[in-house]
Amino acid sequence: MEILKGIGVTPGYATGEAFVFEREDVLVRGRFVRAEEVEREVERFQAAVKSVSDEIEEMRERVRGDLGDNVSRIFESYRWIVDDPVFKEEVERRVRNNRFTAEYSVDRSFKRLIRRLQNIPNPYMRQRIVDIEDLEKRFLSALSGARSEASGRLDRPVVVVGHDLSPAQLAGMDRRKILGIATDVGGRTSHTAIMARDYGIPAVVGLETAGLDVTAGDKVIVDGSRGLLIIDPDEGTLDRYRTLEQEYIGFEVELAKKSQAKVATKDGVGVSVFANMEFPEEIDVVLESGADGVGLFRTEFLYLAADRPPTEDEHATVYIEVAKGLGEKPVVVRTFDLGADKLMKADSAEMGSERNPALGLRGIRLYRVRPEVFRSQVAAIYRASAHGNVKMMVPMVTSVEDVRWVRERCWEVQQELKRRGEWFNPEMPVGVMVETPAAIMVADLIAREVDFFSIGTNDLVQYTLAVDRSNERVAQEFEPLNLSVLRMVDRIIRLGKDKNVPVAMCGEMAGDVNLVMLLLGMGLREFSVSPSSIPEVKAVLVELDAAKAEDVMREALHLHTLQEIRLFIEGANRDLMPEMFRRVSTMHRQGKV
Ligand code: PEP
Ligand code: MG
Repeated sequence: MEILKGIGVTPGYATGEAFVFEREDVLVRGRFVRAEEVEREVERFQAAVKSVSDEIEEMRERVRGDLGDNVSRIFESYRWIVDDPVFKEEVERRVRNNRFTAEYSVDRSFKRLIRRLQNIPNPYMRQRIVDIEDLEKRFLSALSGARSEASGRLDRPVVVVGHDLSPAQLAGMDRRKILGIATDVGGRTSHTAIMARDYGIPAVVGLETAGLDVTAGDKVIVDGSRGLLIIDPDEGTLDRYRTLEQEYIGFEVELAKKSQAKVATKDGVGVSVFANMEFPEEIDVVLESGADGVGLFRTEFLYLAADRPPTEDEHATVYIEVAKGLGEKPVVVRTFDLGADKLMKADSAEMGSERNPALGLRGIRLYRVRPEVFRSQVAAIYRASAHGNVKMMVPMVTSVEDVRWVRERCWEVQQELKRRGEWFNPEMPVGVMVETPAAIMVADLIAREVDFFSIGTNDLVQYTLAVDRSNERVAQEFEPLNLSVLRMVDRIIRLGKDKNVPVAMCGEMAGDVNLVMLLLGMGLREFSVSPSSIPEVKAVLVELDAAKAEDVMREALHLHTLQEIRLFIEGANRDLMPEMFRRVSTMHRQGKV
């Protein structure tokens, strides 16, 4: 028996025979053509665009049939590239100017796009690379005359294991035959993870070596709740998992039924549980999850395809759709958090690539360099505020000047919209993410100038502990329970209460069911978590007593070491909500395999 640890993206369990998914690399043969062949080469490329476009449409139809419109829209990011005139022009220009083959020109364009994505500090954008690589393979296959066929014809129920798996490949398989998914690469927010979640298939990604360690036909268990892949399990483990699987199904059904209601703790303290979302197509999933609104709508996806930033209208279409979809429920639109290279041509001498993008020209710093790009997004968010309960949130703030600069741009945008006769809510709340230690140290001053705070623990932990959040070698060090992080979180929540500024938390820490009590005890009343965590977070909150949680939290903050804090919180969870602790915690983290 061998156990690999990765990131669980769809909770639940699956036991079955492994199907090892492999997709052969398509080689780029030949680089140059003769002058008289250039036009034919351009035509070959145009035919390939058509063929790939048809392929995507077919996949989209198939997924639409299975999962509906919203999920099928994942394929829109493929479309953005295939239909992008700039991409087509660029490839054709390369063929004509350099006499490159269509294959080589396509390869150059994709490599450049991938390089740009790799330099972006935001992990959600980097995860789009899997999609882009898949699209390139489709182009190269089409150019070689072959239709790219996922080599995944499934004739019996299996657990699909592979180095990676794109949404298109997943869509190409018969989903009724996929018991579970395990891949080496990918993250919680990759498109594949989102689809697996929507299909309800237990999935683990980021396993690093599963593609090599598993042989087709091996018996495997996917533990999507704890992020494990168990290869060749012994009888005892198999039995335990069969029981867990049965319990889990019953438990999920029970939680889902209750999650639509607003929640209050046992002592009557109302708490909101919002959803984080990355793509507009997730809106149905968000609503079904029972979310009280959207606490973080990341907007980086809009910058994925083109060589230019989105226009104000492109922004506005998306925000208005989401605002309307949520009705009266709030949506917090976060302005883009990207590095310089995504906004400006990666190969421009002006910017170059950054050695340390997480500490580079990103977020609000970049807005200052390209204020017109920021202004067009802000204008679109204001326009959406006429259609729903919209708020705006700015990332990576470190000072009062940052906030004032944003407020000034908001004022300018408002004047411009008035001039144009556009409707908007002049009182639209504007808040900031608290995700740098600097913001916490001056939060008392920032509090006077903003409408709300939202704690971004993903970055706050990274910057407080000096641990790169995307480096798996230091993943063990990435610890929200580190006392320094807890003190910061406690401090900002208390400050918000004193100054009457609402404080939410939208980092991953908020969705950890084992930490809900601690955060409630600190006074957190707004949690923003991934849609799949909402039923559980709500279920835990209704079992808790806010006053008791506060006592527990005060005691925890007097402890000195991580080990002491962990054990103390586990014990407190067990004492305060014995039944829920047994069901949630054992299924998610604590149980030993
Ligand atoms: C965070 O930093 O905690 C956060 C929610 O933002 P992102 O993960 O997009 O950086
Ligand atoms: Mg962040």
